[in-house]
Amino acid sequence: MEFPEQIDQWILSTCGYCAVGCRLYLGIRNSQIVSVRGDKNSPVNKGRLCLKGRYQWKALTVERATVPMVRRNGEMVKVSWDEALDIVIEKMREVLLNEGPEGLAIYSSGLLPLEEQYAIGKLARGYIGTPNLDANTRLCMSSTVSGFIRSFGQDGPPGCYEDLDIADFLLLFGCNPAEMHPNLWFRIFRNKERRGAYLITVDPRATVTARQSNAHLAILPGSNVAFLKGLTHILIREKWIDEGFIAEHTEGFDKLAESVQECTPEVTSQKTGLSTIEIMDCAKRFAQSAAVTTIFAQGVNQSNQSTEVVNLICNLHLITGKIGKTGSTPLSLTGQVGAMSNREVGGGGSLVGYRRWDNPEHRKEVAQLWNIPVERLPQFSKSILQIFKDIELGKVKLFWNIATNPAVSLPHQEWTRKQLDKVFCIVQDVYYPMETGTYADVFLPAAQWGEKTGTFTNSERRVSLARKALDPPGDAKTDLWIIQEIAKRLGFDDGFNWSGPEAVFEEWKRLSRGCPVNMSGMNYQRLESEQGIQWPCPDLSHPGTSRLYEDGVFPRKSGRALLWAIEEESLDCPEHLRNPESRVKYPFILNTGRIREQFHSRTKTKRIAELNLLSSEGFAEISERDAIKLEIRSGDWVRIITENGWIRVRAKVTSDIAQGSIFVPFHFGDLDPKERHLKQAANHLTSFRVDPISMQPRYKLEYCRVEKDGEW
Ligand code: SF4
Repeated sequence: MEFPEQIDQWILSTCGYCAVGCRLYLGIRNSQIVSVRGDKNSPVNKGRLCLKGRYQWKALTVERATVPMVRRNGEMVKVSWDEALDIVIEKMREVLLNEGPEGLAIYSSGLLPLEEQYAIGKLARGYIGTPNLDANTRLCMSSTVSGFIRSFGQDGPPGCYEDLDIADFLLLFGCNPAEMHPNLWFRIFRNKERRGAYLITVDPRATVTARQSNAHLAILPGSNVAFLKGLTHILIREKWIDEGFIAEHTEGFDKLAESVQECTPEVTSQKTGLSTIEIMDCAKRFAQSAAVTTIFAQGVNQSNQSTEVVNLICNLHLITGKIGKTGSTPLSLTGQVGAMSNREVGGGGSLVGYRRWDNPEHRKEVAQLWNIPVERLPQFSKSILQIFKDIELGKVKLFWNIATNPAVSLPHQEWTRKQLDKVFCIVQDVYYPMETGTYADVFLPAAQWGEKTGTFTNSERRVSLARKALDPPGDAKTDLWIIQEIAKRLGFDDGFNWSGPEAVFEEWKRLSRGCPVNMSGMNYQRLESEQGIQWPCPDLSHPGTSRLYEDGVFPRKSGRALLWAIEEESLDCPEHLRNPESRVKYPFILNTGRIREQFHSRTKTKRIAELNLLSSEGFAEISERDAIKLEIRSGDWVRIITENGWIRVRAKVTSDIAQGSIFVPFHFGDLDPKERHLKQAANHLTSFRVDPISMQPRYKLEYCRVEKDGEW
């Protein structure tokens, strides 16, 4: 801890981890960041920082990748930027000539600021013209995106953080903010303690959030759809609905009512493992509380039928008229700091500005603003799964990986890593070695948070500025510089000659005009002096928008929200149920997820001693009863085996998990030279089964076997 008098300068910025979007000051001494403190004036975090936020600056001070490298005779050797970029451009030209734009794929990250994600989208879509652009945001929030679009007509969280302070009832569905979004949890818990708000957590595990709620509904894995249909049935049957709101602002009610006719509390109880009293109580509180907020995260997004689960959550708010009002909203908790920005500027699967791929007017608009022929824009966008399948088929020959680590984070690692081996791989990251870097033919060292300026949109649509505090180390360059340099060397000088991130933001603003995600009224000065602004913000005098749909008008042709009737419930993996033998072979249900101290694939957090000391290796949670049966004690080595592969981790016997379930954190990779026997990456176990609408992988539900293992 540094004393204020030892700091030369405090620079106001935004936390670089999660999409809570906390504001903080970076303390500089002798041109180094030596401390951080929360910004007391921030409407988001009011001075508070969580463990990860407090120590993140230390990731800047550890050994970094500082020089470009290329693979020669199997070894990575250091080269100049010119040499590295010459190889990149030569290979890109060769692929574009032989395969066309579809031979090239870019996979980026929600950790990059809006400006860099915009630049990637413009290069990939507008200039190269490839449909093969996706980002790791596909893995965390794409089902929310597709769910919101289907229900409301557009993406974007309708509510804001203030709703957490004033809701009377908070339904926490498949999320654990007490550990994953701590500064939001502070607001939720304070509401419970001071205002008496009632919290129900729906989660198969007894997480910290569940334990500190008024009630924990330990739902069976895979039964989200059944639970939400059961609540809908009760609301309609008991007439706990807002008939006026339904009549004026929605369509599809009759079909919805028909689809839940059979979903009585008794049927729901059977499917979810909850008691009818628990289900009835939850429905009653939802209907009879004046203000209701439903908070959800990966327990929804990474589950089976995840888009439909999002639709069912939206339905609950729509039929009770609890949307667009203070304290009442569905609120999705986004993972990465720039994940929302990724959705907005088309840095992943979307077309820039929430425009639609299939709308000719939208395509024309983008082409005009980018000054490119409209024919060059691809007709559609491919997900990371489709891109990897195209690598397998030999259609994609070059894979440019920016600020993400698919060799840990993508499912079915055995298959995924095989595909990485097949392509010419450009890896752009801040650290080397890192798992995906193992597959690099060219490695480009990048600057990270604290070393570059840019904006991030948080989970309440608030756009905040993050200022550069120091220069990147050695020869590392900002991702924006690298993208501009590659674009220019490909001959696209005109579209990419920005003087810096602020110029990119000003260009993006022009594309946002008239779009739902309108940022025309923002600029860097306003963002800084006003502590961030929530979109839409159409002009300089506009204060920003706290809540969407306050007028009950939804951006669909009819102006009404659509109530989605979900007919089918594929309760768990049908492919498994079809095969009773495999049920005997794999009797446990595997759930993967996060832990408090680590972030994503630990590229940063494993380098921060204060965090790594708390959790430095993978583990498997197993229930006390199952542990007794298998004669396993906490600390024993166990093998977790699925049809996709196996890992070897230590057991953690706990009462937090139901009998028949296993929980494994997904943060841990295998690349640790001293501990190579630790094959512990959870994604050796998961499969590339995806939600068919959002193409988001289902990380929360796999079948597995547990075996006690000895010392190696
Ligand atoms: Fe950073 Fe998220 Fe922690 Fe806030 S809650 S300090 S944004 S990691």
